[in-house]
Amino acid sequence: MTRVYNFSAGPAALPESVLKTAAAEMLDWHGSGMSVMEMSHRGPQFMAIAAQAQSLLRELMDIPANYKVLFMQGGAIAENAIVPMNLLRGHASADYIDTGEWSRRSIEEARRYARVNVAASAEDTGYTTIPGRSTWRLDPQAAYVHICSNETIGGVEYAEPPDVGSVPLVADMSSSILSRPVDVTRYGAIYGGAQKNIGPAGLTIVIVREDLIGQALAATPSAFDYAVVASHDSMFNTPPTYAIYIAGLVFEWIKSTGGLAAMEARNRHKAALLYDYLDSTDFYRSPVARDCRSLMNVPFKLHDPALDGAFLKGAEARGMVQLKGHRLVGGMRASIYNAMPLEGVLALVSYMREFEAAKG
Ligand SMILES: *Cc1c(COP(=O)(O)O)cnc(C)c1O
Repeated sequence: MTRVYNFSAGPAALPESVLKTAAAEMLDWHGSGMSVMEMSHRGPQFMAIAAQAQSLLRELMDIPANYKVLFMQGGAIAENAIVPMNLLRGHASADYIDTGEWSRRSIEEARRYARVNVAASAEDTGYTTIPGRSTWRLDPQAAYVHICSNETIGGVEYAEPPDVGSVPLVADMSSSILSRPVDVTRYGAIYGGAQKNIGPAGLTIVIVREDLIGQALAATPSAFDYAVVASHDSMFNTPPTYAIYIAGLVFEWIKSTGGLAAMEARNRHKAALLYDYLDSTDFYRSPVARDCRSLMNVPFKLHDPALDGAFLKGAEARGMVQLKGHRLVGGMRASIYNAMPLEGVLALVSYMREFEAAKG
């Protein structure tokens, strides 16, 4: 068996130890005589798996008791509608910060439910920056302020959550959740699909402050009403059971490797290896401003795009896959989520040097 270094932006690589545990437990979970996929979601075995997953996530992210943790479905793209449906709470409008493709998608969808005030946009820099907080035109009456913590396509990430006063801050954290510690109390709600840093596609995590729920628009589907989901412990409908099980194994892996502070240190080290090399040569470059470069998604360009094909082919021959950049940005993108080992980043940088030496 050969495993590649998978730089996919999502669904993305999972820790090998997690996959091995899942494989070992596939036919018979802990003597139950069945796979987790075959269990009733209301049976004691799966209830314990789900409770353990939630409790580990709470511990890892230090989630206060007045926040609900919801296991939902539909991904971040569904949340783009579910968030305004639940969090407008009688307000006429919501503020959105436009930092790239994923914020744009959030804005477009929210416009179906609310008056959207784009309080700041990085469009004029080609989405390579985060607009300075002092330039944001926030509305104190807004229901919430929405940001995308890490733009998976553009590779732009907030270094810190912005200060938005008493208006709840809502973040799409799909591609940066669990990459480093976050102060959950700074947010009204955090959401994200699991398939970047948590587990298989199909599971959506929502962390929401309890006083903000219970006022969903009347037309909100019950399965997407945060208060309904919370009051049923995320079992109003059948939850994505297997994805929750794998997420639980990933949470255990994060805990056993030192928690989020240790994760951040490893992620900073991996990202610095790439950015330092990109900055040291004219052969490659990072398009993103230094103060907002993502720790998770590293887009980069070759000085001559005519070499892109050869670069990708050589990478694949060396067991490094999914490095082609998103079509909106072009060039390359290395997604180096939690599960990407240091060795994978070292192998990539070493190949980049080799390619530069051969073609530069
Ligand atoms: C991947 C991603 C999405 C899309 O998520 P789906 O699970 O496809 O709905 C949205 N936002 C961000 C930041 C992402 O990385």
